[in-house]
Amino acid sequence: MQLRILGCSGGIGGTNRTTSMLLGERTLIDAGTGVGDLTVDEMARIDQVFLTHAHLDHIACLPMMLDNVLGLRDRPVTVHANRATLQVLRDHVFNWAIWPDFSAIPSPEAAMLRFAAMEIGETREVDGCRITALPVLHTVPAVAYAFDSGAATLVFSGDTTDSPEFWRALNAIDNLRTLIVETAFADREEGLARLSKHFSPRLLVGALAQLARPEAVEVLITHLKPADHALTMREVLEQGAGYRIARLEQGQVIQF
Ligand SMILES: [Zn+2]
Ligand SMILES: [Zn+2]
Repeated sequence: MQLRILGCSGGIGGTNRTTSMLLGERTLIDAGTGVGDLTVDEMARIDQVFLTHAHLDHIACLPMMLDNVLGLRDRPVTVHANRATLQVLRDHVFNWAIWPDFSAIPSPEAAMLRFAAMEIGETREVDGCRITALPVLHTVPAVAYAFDSGAATLVFSGDTTDSPEFWRALNAIDNLRTLIVETAFADREEGLARLSKHFSPRLLVGALAQLARPEAVEVLITHLKPADHALTMREVLEQGAGYRIARLEQGQVIQF
């Protein structure tokens, strides 16, 4: 299986793009501003979108991507997310005020957008890859996703702070090889990280102690806030010296 990183910054500015990844050719994981770098043809091939949560940096490009491909597709785009996230999209985005309701366009019977509620523990299969929603702890209902290609499992945390349920779920995965995990804030903003339920380097490295088989897992850091990209990454590497840690890079392609 292939995962292409379209965006992995915690913000915008210059070449920074927010969270979005392309799994294979027709599955999008979150729909941040990284989606805007896909060609229209690449956008038109996307059949499924899995969202970790409803925050803007993870959904920003979904409305305009759907608008872009209207008329280029003869089947709907299915958005998988927990019920709370889907309700936010219905109430606050696809409500005809912020953006048209693509779940009724061009007609309710042949709509462009289909919602598929997916709760923690549920698994969907796409192109032979099993995608399972895992529990995390953020300010809004959110999930992580495990992607099991058969050969290996990659987990993407989405936005989260520390929670024992997340590490328990990770430790139950025998073939876990890659963990993409957020570290939004530098240590000097640990208070803000706690308040907004994100990780800082100190919080993350402390939490990594719960990982049962750290030697088997490559930890890739994502969602660094642009103003402190370098500082945050330096703090993670210094404190997490005993772990296999690297920074996730925009444009990176991961085979697993
Ligand atoms: Zn968030
Ligand atoms: Zn975020």
